[in-house]
Amino acid sequence: MSFTEHNINGLIYDTADGLSAVGGIRHAFTTRLGGVSPAPYDSLNFFEQNGDTWDNVSQNYRLLGDAAGLDMSRAVGNRQVHGDVVRFIRQEDAGKLRWDERPYNADALITDVPGLPLVAYSADCCTVLLGAPGTVGAVHAGWKGTALGVVGKAVAAMENRGVKPSAVHAAIGPCIGACCFETDADVPDAIRAALGTDAEAFIERRGEKYHVDLRQINRLWLLRAGLEPQNIELHPDCTACRLDRYWSHRVLGMRRGGQIAVIALEEET
Ligand SMILES: [Zn+2]
Repeated sequence: MSFTEHNINGLIYDTADGLSAVGGIRHAFTTRLGGVSPAPYDSLNFFEQNGDTWDNVSQNYRLLGDAAGLDMSRAVGNRQVHGDVVRFIRQEDAGKLRWDERPYNADALITDVPGLPLVAYSADCCTVLLGAPGTVGAVHAGWKGTALGVVGKAVAAMENRGVKPSAVHAAIGPCIGACCFETDADVPDAIRAALGTDAEAFIERRGEKYHVDLRQINRLWLLRAGLEPQNIELHPDCTACRLDRYWSHRVLGMRRGGQIAVIALEEET
């Protein structure tokens, strides 16, 4: 299983083959390519809180929706706070997407309502899309969310609603790789405290600093939550290495755009 690049009139996004194979699900991991926003948000930007206009951002949502077959006028976002709260999204939440209209402080959204695209934002942090027949989820996990195991909590929330973890497929999107995620001891300390020695293989000490593989640590949480190894896909790209394709908070600071991961159950026809 791997990822497939889609280029729709210059708008480029990726899909995970395993999630596509579940059936009844549409999803996308966006790049910075193919939107309308000017520099430094060029061009497929989904962050409105860094200075880009809502006109540009909303046009980017429309373009993505047209390209990927998603009704982004019904999409739901959240105020991401690097925590581990999981929200269940209902029909009445449709369209709560603008930063100042998002009602949720949450880093994971799940739903069983068709036609409600769930959005996770990132510019280095991991995004994780979850899909099983009849239920989907979108998770944001930076290092704090990764240490808190937010992705495992999202799977547990799906399980509480009757979804077997063995039926869940997961795709971890483009994020900062161990190559570029250099940290002080606080990051490995938090991750070791949560996961014990299992995390050791994904923490490398280099002198006074550490390099941490957030993707692999989120994969570990997914395995602990009961997912089958063959149902977990990891995107190969590092956002900090690939500024031609993504924005990176670590490299660019606040003068940048942001990408999203989005997933929805298809509406029954
Ligand atoms: Zn890198």
